[in-house]
Amino acid sequence: RAKQQGKAGHHFFEPSLDERARHRRQLEADLREAIRAGAFELHFQPLYSLTEERLTAFEALVRWPHPRLGLIGPADFIPLAEDTGLIAEIGEWVMHEACAQASSWPEPLAVAVNLSSRQFLSPALPSMVVKALAASGLPAQRLEVEITESALASNVEKTLETLHALQGLGVRIALDDFGTGYSSLSHLRLFPFDKLKIDQSFVRDLARETNGHAVIRAIITLAEALGIETLAEGVEEASQLAVLRQEGCRQIQGFLLSRPIVGTEVSHFIADRGSRTEVIRLRA
Ligand code: C2E
Ligand code: MG
Ligand code: MG
Ligand code: MG
Repeated sequence: RAKQQGKAGHHFFEPSLDERARHRRQLEADLREAIRAGAFELHFQPLYSLTEERLTAFEALVRWPHPRLGLIGPADFIPLAEDTGLIAEIGEWVMHEACAQASSWPEPLAVAVNLSSRQFLSPALPSMVVKALAASGLPAQRLEVEITESALASNVEKTLETLHALQGLGVRIALDDFGTGYSSLSHLRLFPFDKLKIDQSFVRDLARETNGHAVIRAIITLAEALGIETLAEGVEEASQLAVLRQEGCRQIQGFLLSRPIVGTEVSHFIADRGSRTEVIRLRA
């Protein structure tokens, strides 16, 4: 420990391994309690079609209102939930809650639900999805699941089986954060995705790098050639929207359109802005 401190040089601010382990154990205990109490929340962020000029879906994004630590975002507890296996229960709650809320939205608005690697690889996934659809009455065509490339790496056969099982139900499958994982191109060749969500880092690079535009264009061209729909994540500025529109990107998502909102605000959002799609057209 002394040696480590000497090397780091800023030991006063670095929690010790002991402290970190204690924090983690406490957080795990809190997570179990939150699952028992059903203490999670879903926020929803709209997905907008540029080709149809309308809202198409909302992505469900989980949050954990922690009694002492405040609202915790998924990046700060999903990895722990994955490591401890608690993701199965959290994921089941998210799927049921997302389908239940979406069933009250006007047709044909869909809901997009994120799946972690462990959830995606679980043999129980298709039947869990069937149950959530049945319980909510949401048609499978109005559910989209999002997986990241880390879920695909291990076993091609197994991945194909799961993709086919879900698509057989009528559920659509999006590859999330496209371009950040490794081996992105071979994944497109191997697996039948309905949609590519182009990672927000590429959208950010549109402004910063001269090559950014070329990369976005190449991704969109490739996806189109493969018959896969494209969505750009993290669109914050009208200038980014203009490029994406010009390059034929199908859909966008990002703070330009809206930040994630709480479930109870979705119907207001739809009523206020859903029909007035020219809001976006004018801003571009
Ligand atoms: P994601 O699926 O790529 O979701 C998009 C993330 O980008 C969200 O962060 C969203 O709030 C944020 N975002 C959206 N538009 C913008 C923008 O214009 N600018 C910037 N800077 N950010 C934007 P969030 O909600 O913190 O979620 C982070 C990640 O956590 C998600 O990334 C997803 O991978 C994961 N996640 C969220 N909900 C769930 C869930 O229910 N289950 C699982 N397994 N993972 C989830
Ligand atoms: Mg997502
Ligand atoms: Mg993403
Ligand atoms: Mg992401």
